[in-house]
Amino acid sequence: MIAVLISLATPDAAAASVFQKVCFKYDANFLDVGNGDDHVTHNNTYKAQNAKYSISEYGGPTVSSGYLNDDGCVSLFLSNTKSYLYVMASQANFGAASIDVHPTRSQAQQLYGHAVGPVTPTGGTYNVTASASIPGNDWVNVMIAWTKTFKRAPAAWPGYSYNLYMEAPSGGGAAAWEADRFYQGTLYPGVSIDPNNVAALYKFALVHELGHAIGFYVNCQRDAACGTAQGEQPFFENESDPCDPTLTGNDLGHDYNSKENQTAAEIEGWAHYVAAFTFNNVGETDCRYTPANIIRWNYDSVQQNNTAEAFSCEGGEGTADNDYGGAEFTDPVIAVEGRDAFGQFCAGSGDVANRGMEVDWLRFWWDVHQTSGVTLDDILAIRADMGTNGWSSLDTAPASLKVNSRVAQAFYANGLLSVWAAQNNNGITR
Ligand SMILES: [Zn+2]
Repeated sequence: MIAVLISLATPDAAAASVFQKVCFKYDANFLDVGNGDDHVTHNNTYKAQNAKYSISEYGGPTVSSGYLNDDGCVSLFLSNTKSYLYVMASQANFGAASIDVHPTRSQAQQLYGHAVGPVTPTGGTYNVTASASIPGNDWVNVMIAWTKTFKRAPAAWPGYSYNLYMEAPSGGGAAAWEADRFYQGTLYPGVSIDPNNVAALYKFALVHELGHAIGFYVNCQRDAACGTAQGEQPFFENESDPCDPTLTGNDLGHDYNSKENQTAAEIEGWAHYVAAFTFNNVGETDCRYTPANIIRWNYDSVQQNNTAEAFSCEGGEGTADNDYGGAEFTDPVIAVEGRDAFGQFCAGSGDVANRGMEVDWLRFWWDVHQTSGVTLDDILAIRADMGTNGWSSLDTAPASLKVNSRVAQAFYANGLLSVWAAQNNNGITR
């Protein structure tokens, strides 16, 4: 008994295990926050939910590694006489799905990391924050934006490893895509045609690209021939004058309201919808979307009152004249009118027929979700049944390959034909 007491009184007796909670956070740096959106509305710190971590003795062996919990934390016993290295990596796990952000494709096994140490544990909670404001830390924004999507709709998204590379895509075809972020099944969010800008600064753009990735995987899963090719290749047309059917070319850019083949408009509108859903509460009627570029709503080359920093995916907010070819908009928030925005703008026929606009399809999917109450799981099932790989925008294509019939069939296959009929006038039957 005496011997035990003596032992406790020695200096070594101060060595003990302390219960240490380590929480990892992301410090956001987005340009498109706080315009009426409901989630990630400020540049603040966000929990590194489900992110990869490791804790090791400083200069020594790893003592714990794995994935953080929903609060971005891990709790464990550590020695208060040793020092440790706390590391967070650019990977997060959501059951079957994961997000992996790599520097380049040639470094496909590498992740970005943020390390703090040496730290001597004192118990309680220790916070580790990786900041997106540090140059080169764009991966922090990527992780925030994509984590929000997966956490808001757990188990709804297809279970794949979503790989992102913070470099420009390479290869002949990539140039036509202007390094703009989604190509052949992989994503490149760190680059843009604007050298002063990066896509990773825009949360809506980041999740828009995730929408493309989801569409790609869903449809390539259906069609083995899809392989590694572009599963959802949109065909764009001239946005300078969307009413002029003589101006065509796939090397042209696209916009929320540009004239596009119907396949392109749907593929882009779907990706917009995924972003809109992620950062807005579907139960509300103020779906707010902040585009990464200025939208010329009436194509008069004058960007003044009709210039919107944000617009509404809903039709009920604005009181503009709802004529996309009409007078300047004066409302601070332009509302995307349902029921065929493209037809409102240039009610044409011939080549103009069988085309649509991205905002039409954004509004369409939003209405299916918000107004008609179709669940996200059902929406994903519908879109998988649409078979976007192999459909056609050509007037000469068989009806079974055309967009509107593919969509109708997919709704029918899921017992929701009435919903399709209710939304039938969103510019997609032209
Ligand atoms: Zn897109």
